Order: sequence, then C-alpha cells, then structure tokens
Amino acid sequence: MTPAPLSKMRCARHAEREAAACCAACGIAFCRECVSEHEGRLLCAACLEKTVSGAKAGDAARPRGWLPAALKRAPVIAAGAAWLWLCFYLAGLLIEKIPQSAHEGTVWKQAVEDSDANASEWEDAE
Ligand SMILES: [Zn+2]
Ligand SMILES: [Zn+2]
Repeated sequence: MTPAPLSKMRCARHAEREAAACCAACGIAFCRECVSEHEGRLLCAACLEKTVSGAKAGDAARPRGWLPAALKRAPVIAAGAAWLWLCFYLAGLLIEKIPQSAHEGTVWKQAVEDSDANASEWEDAE
C-alpha cells in the first residue's frame, strides 16, 4: 500500500524517465539522477541547493557563531575590563593617599589649631 506508486510517476525534469524518489522537501517526483541524499533525506537539486545555502546562512547567524564573535570581541572586553580596573586602581590610590584622619575631620581641626598656635606665637613675639 504505497500512497504514490513511483513507477507510474515520471521525473519532473525528465518526462521519459520513471520517478525514483520524491523530493523530501517539495514532494515532487524525480528520477534517481535528479535527487541526491542530504542528511538522510532525498532532495531534488533545487531543494538541495536551498537547504545547503540556507544551512550555511543559518550557521552564520545561529548562536553557534557566538563563540568566534566573542573571541573577536575578547580584546575589546579585556581592554574595557583593564580600563575599569585601572580606574578603580587609581581611585584606590587616591583614597589611600588621603589620610584616614581626613575622614574624621581631625586633619582640618589640626590645621586650624596649628594656625591658631602660629597666631598666638606671633602675639607672644610682639
Ligand atoms: Zn525539492
Ligand atoms: Zn530526472
């Protein structure tokens, strides 16, 4: 019980030839010469070309391509990370250079006290 008796069908390209198989994609019957196997499916030349070129285009756009893209962008990401690190490093240096007492305000108090002391010294000298 075959739904389509291929022996009674003719190749879509070669009317004089008996169809050997139906294209798995478009379902049109072709002779053995007109179909070729692709990943276990029999495809006509047109569908094979479409599938192969489509697969190629799909491969480029598919996430499979993300790794090479990431590798290409890696230096940019690394440079960005290095730049960020440098910024934090420099900021850290600056913060380190500011004496701890500055945060408590004692440095300013000290400065004021020093100037007061100087002033009183001047007063004493007079
Ligand atoms: Zn086809
Ligand atoms: Zn044919």
